[in-house]
Parts: sequence; structure tokens; C-alpha cells
Amino acid sequence: MQRTLQAKCLELAADFATRSPQHDREASHPTENYDILRREGFLHLTIPKHWGGSGHDFLTHTIAYEALGRGCPSTALAFNMHASVVMPLLESTEVSDAAKTKIADLVVNHGKMLGGNFSEPGHTSLIGERPLSVRAYPVEGGYCISGRKMFASMLQAADYVLVLVHPEGTTGVSPGMLAMIPPNAEGRNVIANWDTLGMRATRSDSLILDNCFVPDDAVVFRSGDIRRFRIEGASWFWASYTSVYLGLAGAAFDELCRVLNTRNAEGYSQSLAWHPDSRRHVAELSVDLHAARLTTYHSAWLRDRDGPTPEAMTAMFRAKYLVGQATSRIVRTALTLGGAHGIFKGSRIEQLFRDGALAEIQPPQSDFCLWNIGLHELGLDPAAALPPMRPA
Ligand SMILES: Cc1cc2nc3c(=O)[nH]c(=O)nc-3n(C[C@H](O)[C@H](O)[C@H](O)COP(=O)(O)OP(=O)(O)OC[C@H]3O[C@@H](n4cnc5c(N)ncnc54)[C@H](O)[C@@H]3O)c2cc1C
Repeated sequence: MQRTLQAKCLELAADFATRSPQHDREASHPTENYDILRREGFLHLTIPKHWGGSGHDFLTHTIAYEALGRGCPSTALAFNMHASVVMPLLESTEVSDAAKTKIADLVVNHGKMLGGNFSEPGHTSLIGERPLSVRAYPVEGGYCISGRKMFASMLQAADYVLVLVHPEGTTGVSPGMLAMIPPNAEGRNVIANWDTLGMRATRSDSLILDNCFVPDDAVVFRSGDIRRFRIEGASWFWASYTSVYLGLAGAAFDELCRVLNTRNAEGYSQSLAWHPDSRRHVAELSVDLHAARLTTYHSAWLRDRDGPTPEAMTAMFRAKYLVGQATSRIVRTALTLGGAHGIFKGSRIEQLFRDGALAEIQPPQSDFCLWNIGLHELGLDPAAALPPMRPA
């Protein structure tokens, strides 16, 4: 079953790869790829069967998105945003059954694609908490929301964006509210500023909300302490992106092997692959890639088996760290060994180098992973760790 899905994803990835350079150059939404994924049932890949979904587990999702990430990494990364916000809601023990049923219905029966926007300009993992500056004020029949969000992948291609905001009037240590906002909502604006080094076709633009009204039934979750929801959903919010970078690393590795196998120096019958230094580089990258893949699969399996336990969370951080390191090394070595032939615009190595440069920056960032692994391995309570910088 997993092999069949993986083969399907590789087939789709091969098609996506043909349009990837153009979307990368234009930083355009790969909407035709989203339509194909929608048609092929990927919107409800992991939604449980009792809601009409395909009911695949997290390991299967991981294998699928690794394969999709090999074709057009931006397509896989942005489209994953849908599962990354839908699944934590459906799996949460805090979200109401009515909200879950509504979301599952929107996705399964109405084919709606959801983006998610939690990030704000003032957020950083360096301080370990993410206070929300975007505010929702209760008004008759709903809320009015104002403020600026940032980095919203596929913002203008999705049917709704799920926005995390601070609900005024809700008491608690870390209040948060998730509201679904459609593209035509009054007071919703987009600053199309996603002109970036890599993952350009994710179009992770900025969302500006100016007294944007959302009715009560667009609010799918509200809590006085949003932290539990965020931690329990971490495998979706964070780890589901790891597999995309794993796929990207695999694609860069294959491209490097292809280049080495097909380039011949004038006057030599054997390709550059025969050079002992080429073989050694490829061998080292092979070890990196396989270690990253096995660790990622194992962490996904652990999450499926045990849920969000501290051990499963640590395994998730280890996997992301290893994938980040492996991707950085593979795309850098591919660029170096590929030489000046590979640095032209339109070269696969050039694009994967830029996309892969984001691997260690993509949350959970490599340094953030180490921060958490260290705390866990030493048996330290994260809540007791001193703030790394002096607050204002
Ligand atoms: C391609 C892409 C798509 C995205 N799409 C979305 C989206 O759709 N929706 C959304 O809400 N957000 C999205 N984001 C935003 C993302 O989730 C982060 O919120 C965003 O990257 C902000 O963090 P930052 O990169 O400024 O990093 P920071 O958190 O400020 O980290 C910067 C650097 O500081 C270091 N660092 C961080 N934490 C620690 C620590 N604890 N200890 C030591 N060092 C540390 C690391 O080196 C890290 O790279 C996206 C990001 C990317 C790259």
C-alpha cells in the first residue's frame, strides 16, 4: 500500500519537475499541481476514514511527501501546509466534535484547500515563545481581526487561510484562536513580498488584516492556553515538512550522480563518476541520506505508535536536524562537484541548491532542534530553563 502510494507520488513528482523551473523563476503559484493533487485525493490523504478520508498514518504521509518533494519542492512544501493545519485540529482532544466535523466536511466533501498562518514579523524561536500581536475583538456575530501575519505559504491559492490570533477577552496564560478566512473577506489584504532565495513557488506572502470580520462559525478553536494544542500537533506543524526536504536531498543526490555519470572529459572514455574523489563524495552523501531517511521514518513510526510523547518529540527533532545537515551537505557538494556547468539558471542543481539552503532554516530550525534534544537528553525541564536573553 505504501509502495503503491509512493510510486504514484513519484509519477506526479516527475510531472511537477517539468514545470518547477518556471514556477521557481516567476515565483508563481503552481496551481495546476495543486489541482492535480486535489483530484488525486491528497487533500484528505490522512483524514480518518470515518470522516470519508483515506485514513493514512503519519509514516505514510512522510513517505508520500518525500516522493512529492523530489519533483517540485515548493509544490510539496506549500501543499503540505493543508495537512499541517487540518490534522492537528482533527487529532486534538481539545477541539470540539462540531468543529472537526465541519473541517472534515469542507475538505472531504467540498474539496477545500486550507493554508495556515501562525507566524508574525516579531516571532522567533530564539526566545522559545511566540506572543501573538494580531488581535481578534469580539463583535456581534463574530470577531473583527487586525494585525500583520507573515510567511503564509500558498496564501492566495488556498480556499481559506487558518489564522492564529489573540482573542481579546479570553483569559489564560497563552490565549489563542484559530479562524478560517476566505480570500474575499473584507479587510483581508496580501502583501506579495515573497521574492526569496529558495522555495519561491510556495509564495509565502504576508497577510494584513484590517478590521477583518469573521463570523462565529469560522472560529474552529479557541483556548486560554494554546500551547498544548501546538505541542500535540508538532508532528504536523513541523515534522511533516521534514520529509519534503528529505525528498529534495534525494533529488539533488540523484542529479549529482546523473551529472557525474554523463560528463566525460575530452580524451577519456570513462565518465567523471570514475574519478575516485567523485566516488568518495557520493559515498559520504549516500551515508548521510540513508541515515537521515531511516531516522525520519523511525520518528514518524514512533509518532504513529506512541503519539506526541517526549521520546517521539525528541526523535522528530533528531530527524529534522539530520535532514537539515544532509540536505545542506548534499546540495553544496552537488553544486561544487557539478562545477560551473551547474550554476546556470534553469539547472536543476542550481535550483535545488537554493531550495535546499532553506532546509536548516525551516522550522524546527537545526539550532532549535539541538536546543530541545539537549534538554531532553539531560532530563531538564524546559520550563525551568532560564531565558537566553534579558527581557525588556
Ligand atoms: C519556506 C517557508 C515557508 C513557510 N510557510 C509558513 C506558513 O505557511 N505559515 C506560517 O505561519 N509560517 C510559515 N513559515 C514561517 C516559519 O514557520 C517561521 O515562523 C519563520 O521562519 C520565522 O522564523 P525565522 O526564520 O525568522 O527564525 P527564528 O526563529 O528567528 O530563527 C533564526 C535562527 O535562529 C536560530 N535559533 C532559533 N531558535 C533557536 C534556539 N532555540 N536556540 C538556538 N538558536 C536558535 C537558528 O539558527 C535559526 O535559523 C515558513 C517559513 C519558510 C522558510
